[in-house]
Formats: sequence, structure tokens, C-alpha cells
Amino acid sequence: MTRKKLTVIEKFKQRTVRNTDTLIINGHHCLDYTGGYSNVGYGWVLDDDNVMKLAHRKSYELHCGSIPEGMLVLHACDRRSCVEPSHLRAGTQKDNAADRKARPKTILTDIQRNEIKLDMDNYNVIARKYNITRSDVKSIKGITK
Ligand SMILES: [Zn+2]
Repeated sequence: MTRKKLTVIEKFKQRTVRNTDTLIINGHHCLDYTGGYSNVGYGWVLDDDNVMKLAHRKSYELHCGSIPEGMLVLHACDRRSCVEPSHLRAGTQKDNAADRKARPKTILTDIQRNEIKLDMDNYNVIARKYNITRSDVKSIKGITK
């Protein structure tokens, strides 16, 4: 039995969804990757050369060109699950730290914190839902280890 292998471009088409709950940045809502995720919340995609790549970095390569040596691909929207090319730019570790400092931290309401406590989903899924980190989810749930 042979199954046609998807190209990485086809994988992106199948595994992304426009998230209209997000802010419009550079003319577009976020494009969420729905394939596999690493435990820090970045998507993974198996490239055409059979090498696992971070989905947002691959998306940047496909739409914007190659990533300069040693550079990170940063999100304008601060959402790790997003692979929208217009939200991505190449930058240094220092740019990333500056971005993080400049950005207001996600502030959760008490209602959201309660929802998180009761949410039985996988921690990574919860983290993506509320745009917080996996360790934020654990600390809200009162899990210290
Ligand atoms: Zn985005």
C-alpha cells in the first residue's frame, strides 16, 4: 500500500487554521499550527528532507527566505503556535529578550484561573488556549514539580 507523501507545503495547508480570536497584526489574524507540538509550545513539522523542524521557522523559510545563521524567528503576536508569515521576523536572542520585556504579560482573570484549574486537557493544550506557558499552567494548578 502506498500513500502519497505530503510535501511540507501541503502539511502546512492541512495543519493550520486561521484563528479569528486573535488580534489582527500586519493585516492578518494568527495562523495556528495544529500538528505536533513540542512541550514548550512550538509546532514541529517533518520537512521534505526528513528533518524535524520547528513549524514557525519552517514557515518563515517558505515565505520569507532562509534564516540568517544563528538567528531566531520571532513572533510579533507572541503566540508560539502561530505560523503566520506576516507575524514572523528574524532576530537575535537579544531582540527576543527586548520584545519580551516590552510586551505586557498575559493577565488572567480570576474566572480564567478557575477554568484552568478545572481544565482536564493536556497542559500544553491549556497553555495554548490561554497563551501562557506550560509552567504557568502548572503553577495555577498548584503543581510544584
Ligand atoms: Zn500570530
